[in-house]
Amino acid sequence: VDEPIHDAVLGGAAARGDTPALVDGVAGTTLTYAQVDQYHRRIAAGLAEAGVRPGDVLALHSPNTIAYPVAFYAATRAGAAVTTVHPLATPEEFAKQLKDSGARWIVSVTPLAAPARAAAELAGGIQEIFVCDPAGDSGLRSLLDLLGTDAPEPHVPVDPAEDVAALPYSSGTTGVPKGVMLTHRNIATNLAQLEPLIPAGPEDRVLAVLPFFHIYGLTALMNAPLRQGATVVVLPRFELDTFLAAIEKHRITALYVAPPIVLALAKHPAVEGYDLSSLKYLISAAAPLDADLAEACSRRLGLPPVGQAYGMTELSPGTHVVPLAAKNPPPGTVGKLIASTEMRIVSLDDPAEDVPPGGSGEILIRGPQVMKGYLGRPDATADMIDADGWVHTGDVGRVDEDGWLFVVDRVKELIKYKGFQVAPAELEALLLTHDGIADAAVVGTPDADGNEIPKAFVVRADPALTEDDVLAFVAGHVAPYKKIRRVAFTDAVPRAASGKILRRLLRES
Ligand code: ATP
Ligand code: MG
Repeated sequence: VDEPIHDAVLGGAAARGDTPALVDGVAGTTLTYAQVDQYHRRIAAGLAEAGVRPGDVLALHSPNTIAYPVAFYAATRAGAAVTTVHPLATPEEFAKQLKDSGARWIVSVTPLAAPARAAAELAGGIQEIFVCDPAGDSGLRSLLDLLGTDAPEPHVPVDPAEDVAALPYSSGTTGVPKGVMLTHRNIATNLAQLEPLIPAGPEDRVLAVLPFFHIYGLTALMNAPLRQGATVVVLPRFELDTFLAAIEKHRITALYVAPPIVLALAKHPAVEGYDLSSLKYLISAAAPLDADLAEACSRRLGLPPVGQAYGMTELSPGTHVVPLAAKNPPPGTVGKLIASTEMRIVSLDDPAEDVPPGGSGEILIRGPQVMKGYLGRPDATADMIDADGWVHTGDVGRVDEDGWLFVVDRVKELIKYKGFQVAPAELEALLLTHDGIADAAVVGTPDADGNEIPKAFVVRADPALTEDDVLAFVAGHVAPYKKIRRVAFTDAVPRAASGKILRRLLRES
């Protein structure tokens, strides 16, 4: 798809007129498609007037608001690449991203103005910080007052294949977050690849509870629904009661979530208190989801099986999805390979060797959605994308005879116990089926002899639960080499905003 991202998403917006595009899930403020179209052009003109030039990097630092997409497309229309920033980043973390990305402009919100200014000070090189007030009008009026202008909108030539539209940072699950250069073509193509598999229209209302700053929220909750003419109901953060109330109040039809939310929907008593009958389907991505948990969730809500999608920031982000129309997808699958994308499953010992059908190995991907590269890190880019254009995902997968992909775990997180490979995700899923366990994470840890053994971090739902209970429960369900051999009780499992368990923090603890 050779269109700039703002045209790929908002090309049909003016014609959609009064159809609601964005709704503040708490305050109720609504933006129509015509307004989104008009306002993002006025703000693009304002950014150009302020001095934003093609190729500049603009940091967008805000929780989800209805103004967020308007600011995003305004910036790309002015020719900037948008680097999206975690709203809870510390000034140091934010400054690192500003420096690394070479950002010259910041759009932030009043509650975050202090860390934004501190970060700008630390990083240097910032031309201007635009701080809008998200109160009352959800930030829109304030953004328009700051930047809106009647000057003609900028007509910036975009080379969709080369120009970077978004510069999100990977989650930092396995190491330092890296700036991922996604071109207009990368993102627009991936939207077009996924669209026929999860079609939406003006009758759909999706709940944007995952953050727009992460590639999953940016795609599934912003770009895709706005391109398809659906209504996006925006929440600034995940809080179970507000989330459930928003589904009921706004008659939400589609949910895109990560596994921790599936867990809450399957197990939390609060769910019973709300009318969730408007929901038609639920999709989970970003981290391993256990098949039994998915089943418990869809059964409780009376929905079709929870569909999964698979991807990563470097892949704009999608490569696999369970199509909405799929009849009986096998439990636990993350989906089928999407159009014009290739995959190989290769040996963990020798990436040149394809594993026989049905076997597990590292997932390799090639296609038009592969990032341009990591910003300023040619070595890391070369480690990720080989000379033939294959992305080495670092994920272990297996494909069944019908082409359904199953993600086993990350290569780096497999625990090697006496020559056997143990996937933490499988043990975590098992632990979550125990009524006395509210949450759990598993990592490899060295024993006294230096062998790697599986250790569980457990958040108790039942205060009487003991270490022996946990050890015996797991031993009763798995082959002996997979047994949990050590247990630590903890108050919470550390997770990234995208729902992923931060196992490196547990390993260090
Ligand atoms: P970093 O690369 O900085 O360590 P990260 O890999 O967690 O962080 P993301 O790009 O947000 O950053 O996440 C992509 C990863 O998420 C994939 O490589 C995979 O491990 C995991 N993932 C995505 N979807 C699924 C899924 N449906 N099931 C299991 N794992 C998934
Ligand atoms: Mg990664």
